[in-house]
Amino acid sequence: MKKLFAVMMIPIIGIALTTCSTPKLIRGLPLLKRVDFTRVQPGNGTAAPDGSLNADYASDTGTSQGLQNFSNLQNLKSAESRTVDSFPGKNILSAIMKAYPDKVKDLAFRNGDWAIDINGTWFCWARGRVLPENLRDDWEKYTPYPFYSYADTLPPIRELSDEEKQELDNRVKEREENPPSRHPGLYNALWGVSDRSSSWEKVKTTYFFGLKTEIHRELLEDLAAVEEEILTGMKTDDKLRRFVESLVKIDGYNFRNISGTDALSFHSYGTALDILPAGFNGKQVYWLWAKPNFPEWYSLPYEKRFMPPEAFIRAFENHGFVWGGKWFYFDTIHFEYRPEIFILNGMRG
Ligand SMILES: [Zn+2]
Repeated sequence: MKKLFAVMMIPIIGIALTTCSTPKLIRGLPLLKRVDFTRVQPGNGTAAPDGSLNADYASDTGTSQGLQNFSNLQNLKSAESRTVDSFPGKNILSAIMKAYPDKVKDLAFRNGDWAIDINGTWFCWARGRVLPENLRDDWEKYTPYPFYSYADTLPPIRELSDEEKQELDNRVKEREENPPSRHPGLYNALWGVSDRSSSWEKVKTTYFFGLKTEIHRELLEDLAAVEEEILTGMKTDDKLRRFVESLVKIDGYNFRNISGTDALSFHSYGTALDILPAGFNGKQVYWLWAKPNFPEWYSLPYEKRFMPPEAFIRAFENHGFVWGGKWFYFDTIHFEYRPEIFILNGMRG
């Protein structure tokens, strides 16, 4: 019943926001003005009806599998280096163990491969597929997981050569035709989720600056800490304060596979959030929406992309959430809890 309600709510949220006569009270902030939801739904007719749906395309394409064949194209590879797996399997599994210490009990070399024990189930590295050990031999059926480079600073934006552009076009098309298929076992085990109903049991309703959202219950304190840090910053940072006042919607939990794949979106675990302000002032939010108008979307300067204030991004990063605006396949409204990425990149832990 709850699930059905959640599904039914999606199409009417826009109406609710535009017709609600009682403005929401933001903690410590002036009353939020009434907003026109249509302004927060970027993109064109081909965009998914759920503003966050396409976002997962980015978190998925912003990984190695679409890029591995660039090995002979050093420039492009360097431009996309933050999306290419560049860590040995043992280091990645070790970072996962540090990031989720209550769940990952052991790291060991077993049957010729590194493996971690998550709540009693062993997952082997399996060339980046991270599979339950009984599926070890089926690694070719799956796409590697994204464990990418990530930095404090904004990645440099650069032009691509004609050859690189062609190669990138081919990659994007190929991915559309052959979507990746990651085995969901790793994050299912970390978040205690196996299907839609178990995921719903794990999420809780919460408020982020007065805006209702649903996230994994284990992240309630983390999100509260992010809010606290931003609240402190707002006392002296007007830009940050104005940005928070402009927020109209937070899309958290939403159970779904990444389109055309068996891989669950991080929104399915309630571990990703899309932060939506009242408008984007004509700036680009998401690479796939930008693509029709900007065929060279990857070269769009940051001034032409929607950017939350630095202090806002930093508050999320300080509590284990990566920001999709640093991905080559940018998604600037998207934050997801990936402490292992920070540990891998030497930023924490
Ligand atoms: Zn998202």
